[in-house]
Amino acid sequence: MSDRFAENQRKAEQYLARFKTKSLGHLIGGKGIAGYDGNVMENSTPIDGSTLNTVSMGGESEVNLAAGAASDAFSDWRNASGTARRQLLHRIADAVEARAEEISLVESVDTGQAIRFMSKAAIRGAENFRFFADRAPSARDGLHLPAVNQLNYTVREPVGPVGVITPWNTPFMLSTWKIAPALAAGCTVVHKPAEWSPLTAMLLAEITHEAGLPQGVLNLVNGIGEVAGRALTEHRDIAAIAFIGGSETGRHIMAQGAPTLKRVHFELGGKNPVIVFEDADFERALDAVVFMIYSLNGERCTSSSRLLVQSSIHDRFVDALAKRVKNIKVGHPLDPNTELGPLIHPNHHSKVCNYMKIGAAEGALIRVGGQAIDRDGGCYFQPTLLTGVSHEMRVAQEEIFGPVLSVLPFDDEAQAVQQANAVDYGLAGYLWTGDAGRAHRVAGQMDCGMIWVNSENVRHLPTPFGGMKSSGIGRDGGDYSFDFYMETKNICVATTDHRVPQLGLAD
Ligand code: NAD
Repeated sequence: MSDRFAENQRKAEQYLARFKTKSLGHLIGGKGIAGYDGNVMENSTPIDGSTLNTVSMGGESEVNLAAGAASDAFSDWRNASGTARRQLLHRIADAVEARAEEISLVESVDTGQAIRFMSKAAIRGAENFRFFADRAPSARDGLHLPAVNQLNYTVREPVGPVGVITPWNTPFMLSTWKIAPALAAGCTVVHKPAEWSPLTAMLLAEITHEAGLPQGVLNLVNGIGEVAGRALTEHRDIAAIAFIGGSETGRHIMAQGAPTLKRVHFELGGKNPVIVFEDADFERALDAVVFMIYSLNGERCTSSSRLLVQSSIHDRFVDALAKRVKNIKVGHPLDPNTELGPLIHPNHHSKVCNYMKIGAAEGALIRVGGQAIDRDGGCYFQPTLLTGVSHEMRVAQEEIFGPVLSVLPFDDEAQAVQQANAVDYGLAGYLWTGDAGRAHRVAGQMDCGMIWVNSENVRHLPTPFGGMKSSGIGRDGGDYSFDFYMETKNICVATTDHRVPQLGLAD
């Protein structure tokens, strides 16, 4: 065991000790709340299945309390100046950075994500707060739309208290990606994190309050999706739901929110293609293909889980790929050498294992991996490469959300595009080619919300993030986030005594 690994384990234990002393509750109106009916759930680590802590499972009562706190706090928060909000969000970013090590280690143990990736989670979260902090003062700005005899101008106003529902894969970063723009816009928030990874949401809620966020502006309710999540989506005081999670859950949330005409923003699943043409830079494409499916345990919405590779280079590319996949270091997530940690939960582990049976029954070949790894009772799974896949197979169509890459050959550009688009999803797409014309042509035809050409996924916060088809509704990033968290209002002022149509003058 390296010194760094031992040090990570020692520190993680210290940071996690506080969670063992009492059940993790909720944070509502600036106060810690234990929960009303005593329902608790055990939260375990996927490293060895041991219990980290217990968590109060909130329901309608806790959601009512939190929605009430968010409603009460809304008026003052929406009327706070943009400058005040900017200063506060920067203070939150400072506080996140100051506790970056704690956040990373806790998240790594809670989720199984390798520390080499999680060490950046808190820093990226802080960047989200800084980015939206700087835009808070101009978030309300609108357009000047003059007409004859009239002056039209638009203003933007925060939509109201919003619900934020997040998944377990990179929970801290994703929560900040939603909460930071909501707060910058002037909305108050009720956050419902995923039940399999509740710890860093509480750290975030605490940090925001320690940084001076007024009571009730950010509230946290822990609980089961179908109970606490449902209550939040149905609550009449919650104006909008920002949701990150699976497409099926998105469908439920849309139905649950229908009676109250909830505004929804969905970042959902993906089955993202990476197309490698024969004229691509072979080695760089190989690096990116490996990185974009085996990093973050493959539990990544933008993972390139389908490799479409031109037939002329298929065998050479797959041989090189297989060699790399066999070399991926699976291990304890706190070991800095680990590239692939345990999957989040035994249920998810079983789901990924089951896809091996499904793939084999459909005729796919397990070229590398495909097995659970028996290690410390944890949820480990081998990095897996499936070849001989055709696009109607379930392993080419469904989101496995694990370290499993399906390889499909194609002959020409038209077939590459046809296969890339032949899924229900449309989140991200990647393409590798040395031909600039082809890059633009193919990118233009791919049904994906985001396309990276000759690149892995590199985020630039002002750009729109989101998916088409079953991958989502709406975009995050830059001003796109404010479009969701704010209403645009038009104000029309007459500039002359124009003639007003007259009714009721007869007799
Ligand atoms: P999930 O849909 O099971 O759960 C997400 C959240 O929704 C959890 O907090 C859960 O408690 C809650 N929830 C579940 N049922 C609910 C209901 N009926 N009403 C309200 N809330 C409910 O997703 P998951 O398994 O936690 O996360 C994995 C999924 O998230 C994958 O499909 C992945 O692609 C997707 N994801 C998408 C993005 C993106 O940006 N597009 C990013 C990360 C993850």
